[in-house]
Amino acid sequence: MKVKENVTVYYCDHCNKKLIVKRAMEKHEQLCYKNPENTRACSGCLFLKEVPVEYLNRYEQTKTVRGFSCEKLNKKLYPFKVEKKGLPEEYPETFEDQEPMPKTCVHYQDFINL
Ligand SMILES: [Zn+2]
Repeated sequence: MKVKENVTVYYCDHCNKKLIVKRAMEKHEQLCYKNPENTRACSGCLFLKEVPVEYLNRYEQTKTVRGFSCEKLNKKLYPFKVEKKGLPEEYPETFEDQEPMPKTCVHYQDFINL
């Protein structure tokens, strides 16, 4: 059995993740879903609806994925998860009519205080 003593462990400020490579943790914290910087106003909003989004795959076939639309702003929006993966840069045609979900929104309406 190998035992490593006195190893520096880095803990995420936002979730329970721990890593021993500092740079990896810095990168994780930047993209951590629990990082307040990464929360979007649309989460839990009444106006956010799921809509099908069509795209062409590499065989030029039309496929459909789950996307989001704001009924108040009448815009298609993509979540932080999509930003994190860098999909809009990778597939600009699919995202040309979509915007990233805003960090704050004056129209936010939750389901409770109607
Ligand atoms: Zn984290």
